[in-house]
Amino acid sequence: MLNIVIFGAPGSGKGTQSDILIENYGLYHISTGDVLRDNIRRGTALGATAKGYMDAGRLIPDELMIDILADVLDANRDAAAKGVIFDGFPRTIAQAEALERMLAERGTAVTTVIGLEVEEQELIERILNRGRLTGRSDDTLETARKRLEVYHNQTSPLRDYYKERGLYHGIEGTGGIDAVAARIAEHIDAL
Ligand code: ATP
Ligand code: MG
Repeated sequence: MLNIVIFGAPGSGKGTQSDILIENYGLYHISTGDVLRDNIRRGTALGATAKGYMDAGRLIPDELMIDILADVLDANRDAAAKGVIFDGFPRTIAQAEALERMLAERGTAVTTVIGLEVEEQELIERILNRGRLTGRSDDTLETARKRLEVYHNQTSPLRDYYKERGLYHGIEGTGGIDAVAARIAEHIDAL
C-alpha cells in the first residue's frame, strides 16, 4: 500500500497534484477541505459547524476532524485498498498522531510525506486568483493571511515531526504544474 501525505501551505497545490497522483498511481484521494465543502453544499450539521471555522481561516477542532477522517476511511475501505492520498490532513501534531494510530489499526502506515514548498507571496497570489475564478469563500486576502498564520503556527511543526520519522520529502512547488508533478513522480518511483 502506498499512503501518501501531501503537505503544504494553503495554495501550495495539494489538490492539483493529488489529482495527477490518483490518475497515475490509482490511489484514493481524501481531501478534508473537499469533504467539508461538500457538507456545506449539502447543508449538513457538520457543514454548518465547519463553515464558521473555514471562513475565519481557522482549523476545525482536532477531535471533530479526526472522527471525520476515520469515517471517510471506513466508508471507503475497498476504494482505499491500493493506498490513499491524504490532502489537507494531518494539519496538527494531534492529527498526525491520530493518523498513525488509525493506519496502524488498519494494518498500514504512512509511506511518505511530500511537502510542497512555495514562497508566501506566490501563495497569496494563487489563493486570490482561485478566489476570483471559483468564488471560494475563504479565498479572500484577509482569510488567506489568517490561514497562512495558522499554517505557520499549527501545521508547519509537522515538517519536523515527519523529518524525525524519516518520512518528509520536500519538493519545490513552483515552475509549473507538470514540472512539480515530474518531481513528485521521481520521488515516488524511487521509493
Ligand atoms: P490547497 O490550496 O493546498 O488545496 P487549502 O489549505 O487552501 O489547500 P483546504 O485543504 O481545502 O484548503 O482546507 C480549507 C479549510 O478547511 C481550512 O482552512 C480549514 O478551516 C478546514 N480544514 C481542512 N482540513 C482540515 C484539517 N485537517 N483540520 C482542521 N481543519 C481543516
Ligand atoms: Mg485543497
